[in-house]
Amino acid sequence: MKLRKASAAAAAALVLSLTATACGGGDGDNEGDSGSSGGGKIKIGIKYDQPGLGLKEPDGTFSGFDVDVATYVAKELGYDADQIEFVETKSADRENALARGDVKFIAATYSITDERKQKVDFAGPYLLAHQDLLVKADSDITEATDLNGKNLCSVTGSTSAQNVKNDFAPKANLKENSGYSECISSLQSGTVDALTTDDSILAGFAAQEQYKGQFKLAGLKLSNENYGIGVKKGDTETLNKINAALEKMVSSKAWDKAVKDNFGPAKYKNEPAPKIGVIVQ
Ligand code: GLU
Repeated sequence: MKLRKASAAAAAALVLSLTATACGGGDGDNEGDSGSSGGGKIKIGIKYDQPGLGLKEPDGTFSGFDVDVATYVAKELGYDADQIEFVETKSADRENALARGDVKFIAATYSITDERKQKVDFAGPYLLAHQDLLVKADSDITEATDLNGKNLCSVTGSTSAQNVKNDFAPKANLKENSGYSECISSLQSGTVDALTTDDSILAGFAAQEQYKGQFKLAGLKLSNENYGIGVKKGDTETLNKINAALEKMVSSKAWDKAVKDNFGPAKYKNEPAPKIGVIVQ
């Protein structure tokens, strides 16, 4: 009798776990697994159009420093690479994606700022970049002040666009796109005179085979961009786990490997690994 009950329970448990697996292995539209461990999957926000940082390759795979950081962190949270579902989070969508629970965390060249901290929490920082300019190889733009009266491209919802308007070149004719890949096309066609964002991103574009020799970075350190991993406001448990994962990534030298693998081809001279919780102003 007892045995029969036990096997009935085991059978029920098996059915349940099969159902859970079927849901978890689905297309991710499932509300139940929104960004969390629910269905054995984790949704992570990244960029899709930033070579060297977050890029969706033509074959559907993902590459870049943010992708490697996200994959390392996910592993520490208990998810193998095949349990990750990457979701595109454009610059202007990041806070809302976290608030809605679309993703568990975001690793997408996401600078920690006081304004953003009103809406989301940040683990990290895990990289320090600087705002810079990308111009045509024969351009005479060398300083931010050269941009006044010129056509400049950046991305809506980025610190780069904000800094230009508030600070560096308020008289530039700023064209905002939803992604940096649109800006690079405008720069190539001559619709804009410069593209501004983090040097890490610009170096990745400049090193692309199809753009080799066409562009140059101005080499200006216009700002400090402390990249953090965004989590939903109040999700302290995830935040603490991510900070522990980032610390381990640095101490185990997996961080150095990710830097070499992703920034090496672009010859991007990165800053040393930041200390968790220390923001460079
Ligand atoms: N790191 C800057 C930011 O978070 C610029 C890059 C981006 O748009 O992701 O706004």
